[in-house]
Amino acid sequence: MVKAVVGANWGDEGKGKITDMLGKESDIIVRFQGGANAGHTIVNDYGKFALHTLPSGVFYDHTTSIIGNGVALDIPKLFGEIQSVVEKGVPAPKILVSDRAQIVMSYHKLFDAYEEERLAGKSFGSTKSGIAPFYSDKYAKIGFQVSELFDDDLLKEKVVRIAEQKNVLLEHLYHKPLLNPDDLYNELMEYKKMVEPYVCNVSLFLHNAIKEGKNILLEGQLGSLKDPDHGIYPMVTSSSTLAAYGAIGAGIPPYEIKQIITVCKAYSSAVGAGAFVSEIFGDEADELRKRGGDGGEFGATTGRPRRMGWFDCVASKYGCRMQGTTDVAFTVLDVLGYLEEIPVCVGYEINGEVTTEFPVTHLLEKAKPVYKVLPGWKEDIRGIKKYEDLPENCRKYIEFIEEQIGYPITMVSNGPGRDDIIYRNK
Ligand code: GDP
Repeated sequence: MVKAVVGANWGDEGKGKITDMLGKESDIIVRFQGGANAGHTIVNDYGKFALHTLPSGVFYDHTTSIIGNGVALDIPKLFGEIQSVVEKGVPAPKILVSDRAQIVMSYHKLFDAYEEERLAGKSFGSTKSGIAPFYSDKYAKIGFQVSELFDDDLLKEKVVRIAEQKNVLLEHLYHKPLLNPDDLYNELMEYKKMVEPYVCNVSLFLHNAIKEGKNILLEGQLGSLKDPDHGIYPMVTSSSTLAAYGAIGAGIPPYEIKQIITVCKAYSSAVGAGAFVSEIFGDEADELRKRGGDGGEFGATTGRPRRMGWFDCVASKYGCRMQGTTDVAFTVLDVLGYLEEIPVCVGYEINGEVTTEFPVTHLLEKAKPVYKVLPGWKEDIRGIKKYEDLPENCRKYIEFIEEQIGYPITMVSNGPGRDDIIYRNK
């Protein structure tokens, strides 16, 4: 059976924790999109880890962790992460890398940084991990696929062709040092050495695993609103963040994905630029940021303070719909225990009209939040194991949001640890 864990919003919903938790019953965990630009924070018995490339399943010795073909594969980062995990005492993880995954090259990171520099104040807030230049090259058909590392004649010809093309931009647009084909070739040879033991025909492996009845978990990065088609374009990421893409980015039939667990955080946070309707500022935001997540809402990759906001029912309803949600995991609810009252965004006012349907970007930029204020519960809910034991106002908050978004909240996360979870039978 195949399940997917994906985000409803802008990312940082707490997918890492939910994946880690569901990893217990999974034989295989697959990353199917994105690159080292976002991260999951995972707290477990070995310590606290910020993973950017490795699937969260690396902490279990019974799971195989897979980097699917849809991922932007940063080979040195992957190996750095494997080392850091092993150094902290985690048994060497079983890892497979798709022979059809493409490779993030050092020049992708340079182009990312050069473009941000060129755009200056108008930049997209990229993490400079090379993701946008990487996916541009993939679809322009000038990327390097892992399988190509094993075709020396092709590589020797291709590095010359690519240096020629990139150097036009480096010289005339960015005025930066040029690429040398020999350096590119050597870089690829380094990568080949590192990745060779892990290379696998992943779609065939998963085909067989499905036939054998294995439990497979697809692990998404970021959230619906960062999807290049259905998100807040152009302030989006460069690969699809939707569960549907899990089929492509892992190489399995779409109808095999039976459960789609969409993670929604009990309040909002976002990184990077772009419209954020329920955003809050000043002391109110600082307080929530400081208390948020596990030790504050700061980027797992960049350390940047996240933009904060109240729960947004409009964005989350849409985010859940685009994922094809079967279950909602509602996370980080414990953090809200300090509030007397909790505003929830229930509609957007756009040009004088209120809507509950998430609009396209140019209308989103005009949207003003319509709030409903719910009473807080003023209690620490960490450690509670049964839904009925939650304070009444806390249950009301959950049930109100569930009704607004229209998808069942079957899991409530009330702490960062693996066991801080309350299941609800729906
Ligand atoms: P992801 O990218 O979606 O995995 O999100 P993050 O890595 O940014 O995770 C959000 C943060 O919240 C991490 O520091 C988690 O350890 C933490 N976290 C996850 N679930 C909960 C929860 O229910 N309560 C609290 N307090 N923290 C949580």
